[in-house]
Amino acid sequence: MGLTVNSGVVQPPSVNPYLKRRRAAPLPTAAELVEGILKGDITRLSRAVTLVESVSPAHRAIASEVIEKCLPYSGNSRRIGITGVPGAGKSTSIDVFGLHVLRQGGKLAVLAIDPSSERTRGSILGDKTRMEKLSVHPDAFIRPSPSAGSLGGVARKTRETIILCEAAGFNNIFVETVGVGQSETAVHSMVDFFLLIQLAGTGDELQGIKRGIMEMADGIVINKADGDNINRAQLAKAQFRSALQLFPPADSGWTPEVLTYSGYYELGIEEVWDMIDRYFAFVKRNGYFEIKRSQQARYWMYETINERLRSDFYDNPNVAAMLERNERLVMDNSMTSFEAAKQALELYFSQRDHD
Ligand code: GDP
Repeated sequence: MGLTVNSGVVQPPSVNPYLKRRRAAPLPTAAELVEGILKGDITRLSRAVTLVESVSPAHRAIASEVIEKCLPYSGNSRRIGITGVPGAGKSTSIDVFGLHVLRQGGKLAVLAIDPSSERTRGSILGDKTRMEKLSVHPDAFIRPSPSAGSLGGVARKTRETIILCEAAGFNNIFVETVGVGQSETAVHSMVDFFLLIQLAGTGDELQGIKRGIMEMADGIVINKADGDNINRAQLAKAQFRSALQLFPPADSGWTPEVLTYSGYYELGIEEVWDMIDRYFAFVKRNGYFEIKRSQQARYWMYETINERLRSDFYDNPNVAAMLERNERLVMDNSMTSFEAAKQALELYFSQRDHD
């Protein structure tokens, strides 16, 4: 018996025709966004940051225009980088440091760089729930890390977001990063002061801390100096102080300070902040503040170029297809790495020439 098709109930189309497609909110113009940002309108600011983070060329075009127009209004802030391993107490500390700063007036934006983060995972740095007090403060703007991507890309977006926040009147910017990878270098390249949060350990705390990170720090603060931990924190302070003496003097002329505090019990917060105030007074007096900012601007010019070239290359569909093929050949030993790279670059440049 062959198969017969019975005429039965007409199957409804798989897409409900009555369902209206939800229209995306219309894209705001750059002028609208700039106007809102300069008025301190947080909705517009968030919208602009979303465009900065977008991969869509149309969004990027608007974002570039907004950044360009906001640039003359940016720069008037203290940019502070905060790093520490997971569990060091970054969110607890940022919450209390932030409130301390806000008590002195002004506004605070908390941004983050975490190239491994994915928005959906929820454990992202800068996640609002991690900073309970700041997240409900009317003068605080908390933005999680741009979602996963190349470090260069994530960092560039945060750097651009700083400009937008400053134009919106945020005169304190915290950039948080987790102290485990390359991201400290990226944060260091966009802040005026770099604060390293450490924990007192069992006497061998200097091990495992990358020398490079310590060298970048303008201040090292040992958290959780409370309860039974006070003595250990004091010991760690002495160890860090003597370790720092072995480093060459910083370009700023500033000698990094080491302090202990407790973010949870809010002990020593003022002292940490006094140190940061002293740093700003020091580098503004000796001119290093401006020198560092102009060096950072130069650095970001090249970073932006590098990132753009890189993504333009890898996003090219023909190049991507060729790389997929060549990758297999290289791994099979049927082609050398150099030949594979040369072919892909030649393909890319030949296509560029015809643009
Ligand atoms: P993060 O991963 O660096 O953001 O660290 P968290 O701020 O989430 O803190 C990690 C853990 O350490 C939490 O359980 C905090 O309650 C605790 N913690 C943070 N600061 C202190 C402190 O000053 N003293 C003590 N005893 N615990 C703290």
